[in-house]
Amino acid sequence: MKNYLLNFDDKLLRTVREVGRQAAKKKYAAYIVGGIVRDIILKRKNYDLDIVVEGDAIRLARDLAKKWGVKVTVYKKFGTASLETSKGLRVDLATARRESYAHPGALPVVRPGSLKEDLLRRDLTVNAMAIAIGPEGFGRLTDEYGGLADLSKKAVRVLHKNSFIDDPTRILRAVRFEQRFSFKMERQTLLLMKAALRKGAPSNVKPPRYFTEFKKILCEEDPLNCLKRLHQLDGLCFLDPKLEVRIGDVCLLHKRIQKARKKSLYAQKDWWPVYFMGLLAKADDRVVKRVLERFPLTKNERRGIEQSRQSIDMVRSLSARSLRASQVFRILRPLTAEAVLYLRVVTSKVMVSQRIDRFLDRDIEVKLRINGDDLKAVGVASDRRMGRVLENILHLKIDKKVGTKQEELKAVLLSLKEF
Ligand code: ATP
Repeated sequence: MKNYLLNFDDKLLRTVREVGRQAAKKKYAAYIVGGIVRDIILKRKNYDLDIVVEGDAIRLARDLAKKWGVKVTVYKKFGTASLETSKGLRVDLATARRESYAHPGALPVVRPGSLKEDLLRRDLTVNAMAIAIGPEGFGRLTDEYGGLADLSKKAVRVLHKNSFIDDPTRILRAVRFEQRFSFKMERQTLLLMKAALRKGAPSNVKPPRYFTEFKKILCEEDPLNCLKRLHQLDGLCFLDPKLEVRIGDVCLLHKRIQKARKKSLYAQKDWWPVYFMGLLAKADDRVVKRVLERFPLTKNERRGIEQSRQSIDMVRSLSARSLRASQVFRILRPLTAEAVLYLRVVTSKVMVSQRIDRFLDRDIEVKLRINGDDLKAVGVASDRRMGRVLENILHLKIDKKVGTKQEELKAVLLSLKEF
């Protein structure tokens, strides 16, 4: 028997052994499942410990939490529990279950089941494997549906012909894994996917669920190929039936994002909203309004998307020949962080890019040494006037007209004459 955990990460190994031992004490069989198994075989890093037990996962999680002295979060309805080890490792435990769908796209009805049934409810063969972690058979692979063969053939395949109808979010998942690993959609799977899209299957899924999966695409290291693939399959229409995406524009945006990401200033930024802004860039206002209403975006994300629609005007303002740093600051500060990133990558003007870089790198961090108390001491009441005076001094500081606290105070006295 091959031990698939032979070269497993040390920290993870210790944890799964402990979970396996504790499960065995209760006479439960325990396995790691899903993406982490796929990634072990592909020799890719993955720290998402998804564990399935043939037994009561919640009881097991409670035992482990007690033993490790950590908190456990229980989802009784789903028979699942999560805990975090003292080393910050998240462990998700679930009772093996089988699923049935009341109607296409609905959330499945789940009942306890065997490992085999649990694997059968999964999206793709390559995500439907398990590795035993109990003392008996530690490291043994369970591959009921040909996942290993598909991994070596680089094939993306669903487990049964109703898969995309039961759960159309799998369309997005299949595309995501196909592109992430440079795999190829197996012929029958592709036909099933196209048929599901033709039938409009995605409209059976509640928008928040579909969006959660779509967002994962935008968060991929390289979302462009997924977007191109979805576009080619007419699979972007779920965002809105009237949305026409200009994929050429998205390609250009992606190229610029990749370039910006090479700079340390932009390497750690969250770029998914910027891709989303790019997809909506040429849509008319009614379409954007519908999209913003349907999908679970935060207030800030919505605001950013609305701001991104003014990008042409803002780039024009930022292109003015002589513009003080404080004027750039005044244009950019009301924007969300993501709307600023969007501006940074839609513009081809070097001067505008440099101005945005300086704003993010320096000006946004500029702080005054004086505060409200200093203003009160020179007789400014704490009202709107105080805010305006402080704002004025901040602009002077950004333009390097003042530096020390003394200079700031002197500037306060001068601006009091103005306001
Ligand atoms: P990633 O590497 O992006 O984290 P993952 O495969 O770990 O990918 P998750 O979204 O964390 O993806 O899902 C964990 C596992 O749950 C998957 O590997 C798959 O077995 C199963 N799964 C997730 N979503 C679905 C779905 N819609 N239908 C069936 N099975 C699913």
